[in-house]
Amino acid sequence: MLKVTAVHPDSIAAELGLQEGTQLLTVNGRELEDFLDWEFLTAEEEILLHVRQPDGEEIEYDIERPLGEPIGVSLEPARIRRCANRCDFCFVDGLPDGLRDVLYIRDDDYRLSFRYGNFATLTNLKPWDLERIVAYRLSPMYVSVHATDPVVRRWLLRNPEAPDVIPQLRWFAERGISFHTQVVMVPGVNDGAQLVRTLTDLYGLGDAVLSVSVVPVALTEFSKHTLVRQPTGEECRAALAVVDNFAARAVADRGQPWCYGADDLYLMADVALPPAEWYGDFEQRENGVGSVRYLQTRIRAGMGEGGRGTGWAGKRIGVVTGMAMGPLMPQIVPDLERTTGAHFEVLALENTLFGPSVTTAGLLPGKAILAALEDRRDLDLALLPAESVNDDLLFMDDLEAHDLASNLPMPIRLSYDFVDSLTDPTVRPSGQAVR
Ligand code: SF4
Repeated sequence: MLKVTAVHPDSIAAELGLQEGTQLLTVNGRELEDFLDWEFLTAEEEILLHVRQPDGEEIEYDIERPLGEPIGVSLEPARIRRCANRCDFCFVDGLPDGLRDVLYIRDDDYRLSFRYGNFATLTNLKPWDLERIVAYRLSPMYVSVHATDPVVRRWLLRNPEAPDVIPQLRWFAERGISFHTQVVMVPGVNDGAQLVRTLTDLYGLGDAVLSVSVVPVALTEFSKHTLVRQPTGEECRAALAVVDNFAARAVADRGQPWCYGADDLYLMADVALPPAEWYGDFEQRENGVGSVRYLQTRIRAGMGEGGRGTGWAGKRIGVVTGMAMGPLMPQIVPDLERTTGAHFEVLALENTLFGPSVTTAGLLPGKAILAALEDRRDLDLALLPAESVNDDLLFMDDLEAHDLASNLPMPIRLSYDFVDSLTDPTVRPSGQAVR
């Protein structure tokens, strides 16, 4: 059963009289477990929908509509599938106490993997999940492989029950499912010969494995440092050499690199990033793979050369980011200055909530941003990383973006890629956070 949380105006649902609180029971006689059932079972032109209205009345609707026209309801969020693993490097273990409850949930959900590109380990699948993935063609999925040696993978996941991942992926591949995969590199465990074995095994699965990224493990001040450590520069260079070998082979065989190092891996190895063309369609940019080159590409394509019509010439704009992007931003700022005529100042902030080892912009607490900007009356605008707030505009430390904005002397904008914020030159008054 699924519950309706909103009915869209002028939709089929509104015409039928569905309401907030209506329970969706079956479609064509099939029970509804989650949003996947709803989307796939209602994809037909003709459906028989059985509902229970908030007053208890049960109604069956025979619906015929043009293919592709949505029914027009929002659904209660799915109950998240919990993780069956206990990785030493789990980010949840690295959180300080006292944050909002939802942040402590270890999710490992193949449905979110398909829908949002969240990485899942596939270690908690039930037989009916396997059937569903194939029946609904949930492809591509995003899979945390980490290691293909079953013993090493079980060690990394701290899960003696974790299935052997290569037979599992092969089973799906034979049924038409493909994958983007990642290896979170833990030095001394799955680097070196283990990394070579993992990449060899994944390469052997052929076209079903669309890409693999190698990402250095990220730890906070609160992580289990007695059990896991971050890689050294030397270890990152060694891992990049392995990545390069496989990428060269894939370019020769398949015409694209297939195997990618995360931007952080290059940064920690002190090696220059590959050019934008290397990353193809930037399939793993949300995983920090090619993010810098993607930004540069977006800026050049979205804003044009010479600042035409952007309206920012002569302004001073602060760009707030995490320490990881600090050294990479100088590669982006000249593009921004050339295309807007503005002066940009990069404010790479230390993470005061998780400790200095957490360097990603998306985890910056609002209070660190407040401290960095509250006296900066010289700035005409500040751009903040949009991924550092959730849908309710809350930063990790529960500061709300509008509250932050009302305590700053300059307007702020939440930006994913600069273009989303800078192509509109209308600067709102300070005190507002604008996406
Ligand atoms: S798979 Fe590992 S890192 Fe991911 S949520 Fe589970 S325990 Fe944490």
